[in-house]
Amino acid sequence: MPSKPFPAATSITPFWRTEPDPLDNHRSTETLPETTDIVIIGAGYAGASTAYHILEQCDPSSKPSIVILEARQLCSGATGRNGGHLKPDVYNAISTFAGRYGVEAAAEVAAFEYAHVPALEAVVAKENIDCDLQVSQAHDVQLDEKHTAKLKAGFEALLAGGSVPTQSAVFTSGTEAENVSGVKDAKSCFTYRAGRLWPYKLIAGLLKKAISNGANLQTNTPVLSISSSPNTEGLWTVQTPRGAIRSKQIIFSSNAYTSAIAPQYSGKIIPVRGICSRIVVPNPPTRVLDSSYTIRIKEGIYEYLIPRPDGSIVIGGARSAYAQQLENWYDNTDDSRLIESAKGHFDGYMQRYFNGWEGTGAFTDRVWTGIMGYTTDSLPHVGQVPGKPGQFVIAGFNGHGMPQIFLSAKGVAEMVVRGVEFDQTAVPKLFKTSQARLDSTENRILGASYLDGAVKGKL
Ligand SMILES: Cc1cc2nc3c(=O)[nH]c(=O)nc-3n(C[C@H](O)[C@H](O)[C@H](O)COP(=O)(O)OP(=O)(O)OC[C@H]3O[C@@H](n4cnc5c(N)ncnc54)[C@H](O)[C@@H]3O)c2cc1C
Repeated sequence: MPSKPFPAATSITPFWRTEPDPLDNHRSTETLPETTDIVIIGAGYAGASTAYHILEQCDPSSKPSIVILEARQLCSGATGRNGGHLKPDVYNAISTFAGRYGVEAAAEVAAFEYAHVPALEAVVAKENIDCDLQVSQAHDVQLDEKHTAKLKAGFEALLAGGSVPTQSAVFTSGTEAENVSGVKDAKSCFTYRAGRLWPYKLIAGLLKKAISNGANLQTNTPVLSISSSPNTEGLWTVQTPRGAIRSKQIIFSSNAYTSAIAPQYSGKIIPVRGICSRIVVPNPPTRVLDSSYTIRIKEGIYEYLIPRPDGSIVIGGARSAYAQQLENWYDNTDDSRLIESAKGHFDGYMQRYFNGWEGTGAFTDRVWTGIMGYTTDSLPHVGQVPGKPGQFVIAGFNGHGMPQIFLSAKGVAEMVVRGVEFDQTAVPKLFKTSQARLDSTENRILGASYLDGAVKGKL
């Protein structure tokens, strides 16, 4: 368990970082400026999107100065290590939120996620970002009857409650589910619209635009601490090994690592290690994959995968191979090594689960780990940091940030640039960071049913 969860000094190279952009180790200036209007901490999806939106929203004649501080290389955190799946949830976690907070609040999250696919299509087209974005069907396949029954009941309750985005999903079961999905022994399947992309290239594209609009990117520059209070001019001091920067506004887009520099998030945003892989396919399958997938073995145990334009497959998950070993994933920031018990998990995966893949010779080309920011109430923290004027957070996306971050960043930019209140932005109310959430002692990560035994054994 790290005392302060800073990014590890080195990390395994994921597939997405095998073609580094010229910005990978970029420093816009040789030294750090002494003052700036805005410091953004972290150059992943959240930091890049926030910088992009701030500079898009402000008047060109009065652009704020922005310094983006990144501990390692550009997009070297979760965004550069994920599954590349841009899959809005319209019924799964959404149904859990409906049970806890009501259908209206849950449907707001679903609609927000759903809006990410067209929003990303639009920004990729507008900025001409070559990031392999494809939009097609996603199939969420259940292999377990009990889990099917639970998900179907939640899905139907959302429909009955009037959740509009939920209507975009089609449910099938039995042989129809196997026919629709191509997954062997499928018990049921939800089919709806989702995207897939090369996340690193998206982030490099957004940052290129932000830099051309004046942002100062400083990679390999970890933030060590922030002053506990602002000075008399309202400026916070941001300390790095290369000197200090004073700034009126600070944005924590530091994901799993946020509590190292914003201690009020300690025990609320937890680093959780995940694993992903790339499968190479020497011989084409008799049934080609043109959709993305989640395959749910049982509740809490699943894999997610996307087909790539080069014919390879990126698959993440493997939780069944390590979930019971808490120290291997919970409160763990080590993306410099693999989870030993899981590294062979993806071998033969496609042949095992997909009809028509038996003769493909598909094999695991690369495996990597990445650090997600899980929150103890399963909701991201977005907005003004309680009690810290000028500080904002956009972090803790629970391994599901691709359909949540871009438009959250748009909302944060509105708060930062124009002083808009959280409730006046389009960011779902449930995402709002608050003192009440920071004071809560619940921990839904360790409360998950599939951890029975593991947690009791550890605590
Ligand atoms: C294995 C894996 C698979 C995933 N698959 C998917 C998926 O398919 N679909 C999906 O929606 N989501 C997925 N996710 C989650 C998704 O990647 C994240 O939700 C999202 O990328 C988070 O973006 P971010 O910018 O908040 O965080 P990050 O990309 O982690 O960026 C945070 C950055 O902040 C930097 N930083 C932290 N602390 C400091 C500091 N003190 N000083 C300076 N810099 C600092 C870090 O180095 C890092 O670069 C996956 C995650 C992992 C790890």
